[in-house]
Amino acid sequence: MMKKAIMSAYGFLKYSSPLRTDCGKLCNKQCCSREDMGMLLFPGEEKLFEDDKDFSLKKDSGGRNLLFCSGVCERKKRPISCRIYPLFPYTYLENGEMKQKVVYDLRGINSCEIVRTQTKAQRIFFSSVRKAGKSLLKDPECAGLLVEISREIDDIIKLNEDIGGI
Ligand code: SF4
Ligand code: SF4
Repeated sequence: MMKKAIMSAYGFLKYSSPLRTDCGKLCNKQCCSREDMGMLLFPGEEKLFEDDKDFSLKKDSGGRNLLFCSGVCERKKRPISCRIYPLFPYTYLENGEMKQKVVYDLRGINSCEIVRTQTKAQRIFFSSVRKAGKSLLKDPECAGLLVEISREIDDIIKLNEDIGGI
């Protein structure tokens, strides 16, 4: 059975999108055109795609599941990574407690117009990502991935500081 945390996250992110208008027109849908990259799946989420001919699965070097698509999909099938992008529920430990804040996903700094120009996302989208993040945090494996990606975002911030960007 699919994890409750994942199904709740899907539910929170069912309808919302970053902007009122179609942001794909800003960038020619960059985030759906990066076939070589694959989308990182949350632990357990791969079960939703195992028998779906529209998608394929591979592991990355760290054993994490990556999802590959054709660049077009049914909206209701999008994985969490696509649903929350270009925001991310940044997750960190403070005083022994896991905390979250919704940030721009800086992994997209060179490809996403919203991230690059820090365009304000709709409040409802921001709130949906926040709720989905809280839900994923309740599952220890999903929480682990949130922390891992948050560290990757930290690394990008650090790298950009070192070269005088951001
Ligand atoms: S890359 Fe950014 S601006 Fe372009 S479609 Fe994806 S979320 Fe929208
Ligand atoms: S799964 Fe859908 S939303 Fe995600 S990259 Fe592929 S086409 Fe785009």
